[in-house]
Amino acid sequence: MIKVEHLHKSFGKLEVLNDVSLEIAKGEVVALIGPSGSGKSTLLRCLNLLEVPTSGHVYIDGIDITAKGTNVLKIRENLGMVFQHFHLFPHKTVMENMIYAPTKVKGVDKETAKREAMDLLRQVGLEDKANSYPETLSGGQKQRAAIARALAMKPEAMLFDEPTSALDPEMVKEVLQVIQGLAHTGITMVIVTHEMGFARNVADKICFLDHGQLLEVSTPDVFFSNPKTERAKEFLSKVL
Ligand code: ADP
Ligand code: MG
Repeated sequence: MIKVEHLHKSFGKLEVLNDVSLEIAKGEVVALIGPSGSGKSTLLRCLNLLEVPTSGHVYIDGIDITAKGTNVLKIRENLGMVFQHFHLFPHKTVMENMIYAPTKVKGVDKETAKREAMDLLRQVGLEDKANSYPETLSGGQKQRAAIARALAMKPEAMLFDEPTSALDPEMVKEVLQVIQGLAHTGITMVIVTHEMGFARNVADKICFLDHGQLLEVSTPDVFFSNPKTERAKEFLSKVL
């Protein structure tokens, strides 16, 4: 579903992604891990053109989104993104947050959008928060609302950038459980995470990035028990 070919990204003189190639199949759950500053967020953001690659190609369903004339908004509709810091509209209720894009961007009628939003809020355990404002929610609830909002666009894939890094420890689990629940629905997911236990349990594939290079693509069992590169061994020795 997602194919990355010889991707390079530089910010000025700083080379952040160095010849990354990767294929992600439909329904696959991929954990993107690596040291801070290794280029994980940049890679994720290149998948929906929040960053424009310096060179190389990204194909979504066979379409080269890095080609000229791509409808960027259409691409982003199809790839839901969840950030570390929620990004909910503060002046809208959870329900208003949920139905905004489906009604404004996709032209879904309001009643349908609300019904579907309620189903999603139930799925993430927030059915009683539909009329609450984000500031009244806990961090974990905000992140679950952000996930539900992204799902409301019925994306083909979800991109998560450290979805639990800004949360107090006691709220990490409730968010990881929601993401884990999604893994069984057949949606494609790419998750940047420092939660190694989660990555091991949920991912089909681990991608290890270091200094902008994709050094390993392995199954969780292989990666965590027998990493191929010294860099990965060193990384794991620090985080496990
Ligand atoms: P990670 O998510 O793995 O921590 P990032 O992809 O955020 O890494 O960043 C990789 C490198 O690129 C870092 O050195 C970071 O400072 C740099 N970087 C990221 N975004 C920008 C930007 N918009 N402008 C300049 N440098 C950036
Ligand atoms: Mg990052």
